Amino acid sequence: MTLFQKIIDREIPADFVYEDDDVCAFRDIAPQAPTHILVIPKKPLVKIAEMGEEDTLLIGKLMLCATQIAKEQGIEDYRLVINNGAKAGQSVFHLHLHILAGRPFTWPPG
Ligand code: IMP
Repeated sequence: MTLFQKIIDREIPADFVYEDDDVCAFRDIAPQAPTHILVIPKKPLVKIAEMGEEDTLLIGKLMLCATQIAKEQGIEDYRLVINNGAKAGQSVFHLHLHILAGRPFTWPPG
């Protein structure tokens, strides 16, 4: 079981900012920006590459939730990041979308 499944199941605590039947969002424990929130599906998809056609609505909802959370948090400029696989920086193997905001970001990312 992944760490994020334990957060969904309330086995370990998290600072939740949003939750419904399909997705939830909580603050990253090691924030890389003044605002750093993770939006995750409750369905245990390992990574974005594992999504199937049946997940189209769910992934759309994940993105929509991210933009709504950003609005609620009062942030206009932000970066949305999905790391797919260890070499791309993924460390928790339950799909998650990072919302990062509150500082300037460089491009390309490191
Ligand atoms: P990844 O590197 O894209 O897989 O992102 C995983 C994120 O999960 C990292 O930014 C971590 O800081 C974050 N993280 C790890 N453990 C916890 C936790 O217990 N609560 C909240 N965020 C966590």
